[in-house]
Amino acid sequence: MNQKNRCAKCGCLFRPNPRVKDQEYCNRSACQRARKRRWQRKRMATDPDYRANQNGGKKTAKKGGTLRPESTVK
Ligand SMILES: [Zn+2]
Repeated sequence: MNQKNRCAKCGCLFRPNPRVKDQEYCNRSACQRARKRRWQRKRMATDPDYRANQNGGKKTAKKGGTLRPESTVK
């Protein structure tokens, strides 16, 4: 019942959501981002349609510039 998982990103212990199977990341935003990135990477590797979509959408999304505040803050 009170089982805890270790976050694959920051290594902290967290109580997984019972509705999420094999939850590997805690709910910190940085860890959720890591989870999403990993999911996207897997998706890109296994789903050609998804990959095409991502690449096609990038052209318009890039217009606003590529500098993101995230990359400067560590
Ligand atoms: Zn974490």
